Amino acid sequence: SGKEFRGRCPFHEERTPSFFVVPEKGFFFCHGCRARGDAVDFLRRMLGLSFGEAVRELARQVGLPVSESEASAADSSQRLRDVTRLALEHFQTLLWSSEGASTRAYLQARGVTEETARAFGLGWAPEA
Ligand SMILES: [Zn+2]
Repeated sequence: SGKEFRGRCPFHEERTPSFFVVPEKGFFFCHGCRARGDAVDFLRRMLGLSFGEAVRELARQVGLPVSESEASAADSSQRLRDVTRLALEHFQTLLWSSEGASTRAYLQARGVTEETARAFGLGWAPEA
């Protein structure tokens, strides 16, 4: 479909193709289940690989050498990113829940719009 490849999503059941691969930009996305990512993300999900294993597999397919230390450093770094992303999602969810109402009011009073707060991924951590 133009400069993109379109097909049925491998990550959810569907009859009408809503999965796109954009080779020029190096990513995939699905309008149905919102799956998205790059080649490493695709292999991680499809084959259940760690970040380092997916990097090693891609490197093998294109004939690039990857040392074990590079791959395991990539795994550690990816784990840290995964944990940080989970924390971000947790605190964002709290900000936009009923518990976050007073914090949202504070942000509004400081001139931070909802659009801006969402764009910058603001969250709220209760004292507990
Ligand atoms: Zn999908």
